[in-house]
Amino acid sequence: MSDFHPAADVKRKALENVRDVQLYINGEFVNAESQEIFANINPFTNEKINNVASGGKEDIQKAAAAARRAFKGEWGKMKQSERLAFVYKIADLIDEHVEELAPLEAYDTGLPLRITKKMVSRASQNFRFYAEMVSSRMVGDAYKVDNEFLNYTIHKPVGVAGLITPWNAPFMLETWKIAPALATGNTVILKPAEWSPLTANKLAEIIDLAGLPDGVFNVVQGFGETAGASLVAHEDVQLISFTGETTTGSEIMKNGADALKRFSMELGGKSPIIVFDDADLDRALDACTWGIFSFNGERCTANSRLYLHEDIAEAFIEKLKERVDHIKVGDPLDESTQVGPLIHMKHCENVKNYLKIAEEEGCDVYQGIVPDEYSNTNFVPPTLLLNADNTMRAVQEEIFGPVLAVMTFREEEEVIELANDVRYGLAGYVWTKDIQRGHRVSQAVDAGMLWINSQNVRDLRTPFGGAKYSGIGREGGYYAFEFYTETQVVHVALGDHHIPQFGKK
Ligand code: NAD
Repeated sequence: MSDFHPAADVKRKALENVRDVQLYINGEFVNAESQEIFANINPFTNEKINNVASGGKEDIQKAAAAARRAFKGEWGKMKQSERLAFVYKIADLIDEHVEELAPLEAYDTGLPLRITKKMVSRASQNFRFYAEMVSSRMVGDAYKVDNEFLNYTIHKPVGVAGLITPWNAPFMLETWKIAPALATGNTVILKPAEWSPLTANKLAEIIDLAGLPDGVFNVVQGFGETAGASLVAHEDVQLISFTGETTTGSEIMKNGADALKRFSMELGGKSPIIVFDDADLDRALDACTWGIFSFNGERCTANSRLYLHEDIAEAFIEKLKERVDHIKVGDPLDESTQVGPLIHMKHCENVKNYLKIAEEEGCDVYQGIVPDEYSNTNFVPPTLLLNADNTMRAVQEEIFGPVLAVMTFREEEEVIELANDVRYGLAGYVWTKDIQRGHRVSQAVDAGMLWINSQNVRDLRTPFGGAKYSGIGREGGYYAFEFYTETQVVHVALGDHHIPQFGKK
């Protein structure tokens, strides 16, 4: 395997000395109280990269106490402008470390370097964007009530924010939550996914360099059932922003119910892409191929269900096959790689199992090529499930790999029904030159985010989130203020209004 891509090999050698990862609590890198560790595995080789401290209840308690102290103390009392200066500083420091971060993320997750480069460069934007949003858009309303009252609203930070993130775009998703949480004045405990600890640890080092007061930002690495569950149950953690699987989200909501946690839930997806016969088929093909096979298919908003109008289906499928045949599968650190290995052996088995199920259900499984030397590792070739239909498990359930179910339709009403006939509702994509139909169909799809004649291009100002089993609430833009702040109303009497005089003689 090692002499196949010399440049990638050089990069991997440089990464081989990644140090063991500790927890970051109250401004210090520390071992877990239990001294427990777990092995972090390289998705490309299935060999151990390093050891990671395995946080548990005691570590969460320490982090929560530190975060609460910081919230009640220096951070909570700091002027907004000073607080935002720290947020800008984090952004600058991320930019300074981008060259290091992108290969580290590719090494840890199996995502191709060409993807992680884009993702990590967006991370500093997340911090700058929220610093700007807070100073320009975190505004209250004023209500004059006749000439008797003035009522006004303010946004106050909630307290200690627990952020729980998945492995599929770790650095981007972590910063997407940390930036609004800190900019609005909360303190943070981050629980990164156990399969992708490295860039979260690098972020702790970067934030440490930024010199935030101790306890404002904490990272407790570890497993969901231990570190994650303790964070959810802790009564001093007021809110949980979670991104991950739908079943985990519902488990977390149950576990946080006693402490009346505030939740933001960004969950799974099974998003449709609908291509009408009048669409720009070349562009639709580009978008469809990118939308399912980029990020190794491990993408929440992936267009994993393709609905093709019958009149163009045959020709479109032929071109799709051609693309699948030529997608470059390989070493994530090789800049030319388009699809890398899946994150973990277990996840790879799950995805392969879905392919078996799809075959049993009657699909024709059409696959691209994985070079022979990778055949025993975590690779799943780009895959088309042809002759699929909505009743199949492979169409209803989130596979979270490079697998596209392909179906056909005849009528607009029919395809809307098919698009909505899953429990998920995260995203959707509509391709047509008929602009009225584009709007009509998009608005009829039960999903949080739709794109017309477009690939998944995100503007940070717009709301991000899903409908149905894909989530609760919206983050992004000023929508995040709803979640990360408490809206308080202050009622001020302007004169001597009438007050009933109970009990007066
Ligand atoms: P996951 O649900 O297995 O894990 C996510 C995080 O939750 C991890 O940090 C994990 O340790 C933690 N966790 C697990 N059990 C927990 C518990 N009982 N209490 C507290 N924390 C717990 O998800 P994953 O496999 O890491 O990520 C893939 C999933 O994430 C997919 O379903 C994907 O669609 C979804 N996702 C959604 C979005 C979105 O914005 N909607 C974005 C990215 C990924």
